[in-house]
Amino acid sequence: MNAHDSEKVIGTLLSRGYTQVQTAEGAELVLYNTCSIRDKAEQKVFSRLQQFKREAGKGKVFGVLGCVAQQEGEKIFDRAPHVSLVAGSASYTKLPEMLVQLEAGGRRVTGLSLDTEETFETPLTRRDNPHRAYITIIEGCDKSCAYCVVPFTRGPERSRTSASVMDEARRLAESGYSEIQLLGQNVNSYRDPSSAGWDFATLLARVGEVPGIRRVRFTTSHPRDFVKPIVDAIDANTALCDHVHLPVQSGSDSVLGAMDRLYTRADYMRRIEWLKNARRNIAITTDIIVGFPGETEADFNQTLALLDEVQYDSLFSFKYSSRPNTAARHLVDQIPDEEKTRRLTVLQERQRAIQIRRNSEAVGSVQEVLVEGRNQALGQWIGRTSQNRTLNFTHPAADGQQLAGRYLAVRVTRAGPNSLVGEIVM
Ligand code: SAH
Ligand code: SF4
Repeated sequence: MNAHDSEKVIGTLLSRGYTQVQTAEGAELVLYNTCSIRDKAEQKVFSRLQQFKREAGKGKVFGVLGCVAQQEGEKIFDRAPHVSLVAGSASYTKLPEMLVQLEAGGRRVTGLSLDTEETFETPLTRRDNPHRAYITIIEGCDKSCAYCVVPFTRGPERSRTSASVMDEARRLAESGYSEIQLLGQNVNSYRDPSSAGWDFATLLARVGEVPGIRRVRFTTSHPRDFVKPIVDAIDANTALCDHVHLPVQSGSDSVLGAMDRLYTRADYMRRIEWLKNARRNIAITTDIIVGFPGETEADFNQTLALLDEVQYDSLFSFKYSSRPNTAARHLVDQIPDEEKTRRLTVLQERQRAIQIRRNSEAVGSVQEVLVEGRNQALGQWIGRTSQNRTLNFTHPAADGQQLAGRYLAVRVTRAGPNSLVGEIVM
């Protein structure tokens, strides 16, 4: 979502006559798009800001965008006095105005309002990838998970109209994009604000029917809002990818309750059953937090048992990080950092073994990949399967020939924990 926000900001700047340079050293205006989901990401911003501090006096202008901007607001000016612009994502529609103020010699401009109905949509988006395009369909989040800063940094949920999403999807298909990724903090709580009233499953199905669109992905789904019609839509149209990312966070009901996740392990497993019973072979991935305050060894073991039960194709795992404003920040019974690290390692090892097994099941099969580029060092092309696996492959006729963006059939010959290797089917 942040990467896509950057694409929109870059497009907005280009339309105002700015040009993009390759390095921060060569830039007159440096904008940092930031993440505050965990403390580590936030600290990184401040250490990066120090990097060019001395150049501020030489006319270089600095801005901070995104969730750290929203969360810290004008405090950023105290901590990094060389910063001139601070704007959260709900204020990006006002960026052109803010830039005018800066260009007119304004020393400090801010965009920190969150009480907006707006979504930041712009036809100016400068997409990085020529084949895969992101489309934001819903911004913000109305849940209140006890650990999470997102509702405070991105504001309440607001969905775009289905007509504007469909227009964008058709326009992208006409300009040669073949894969679309629908984005939202809670993508499946999408609710069309127009009289058409489409829910997420309907929108997903319709985007999959746009001529020229061969793949549709979506992220991130909240289990509470993950309904059976989403699985039925995937089953009905092969343009909808064989992959669902369904963050569980923990396998223990008491931790899920303390996190305020609004589902139990059994509720979650019901959704996994729908996915496993689908006609399509749908890959399932997840997010896990270890060391949430009060998580006991028994709770943690339940998370490990959940991995065994679900057999995820991949997962993102994080040590709990206490965030400002969140309900969990005052909870006592914090888990020491060494213990969180230990649990993270145990979890990742368990998952690694599962992935080796899951990936080796693909050996011998033929999979369609979208070619993403070439790994010169390995002499292989990089492809991605519908299940979102990386499948690197050799192609005898490929020297000097550009394959990126094409859909090819590849036979899987080897499997590692994180990717597959194969050869082109001629
Ligand atoms: N909206 C998505 C998650 C977005 S944040 C959802 O509800 O599933 C992406 C992931 O970051 C979360 O799934 C969670 O695993 C992790 N995360 C969020 N806040 C965190 C925190 N305070 N500490 C550690 N991990 C966190
Ligand atoms: Fe954060 Fe929960 Fe909203 Fe996801 S659903 S963004 S974890 S508050």
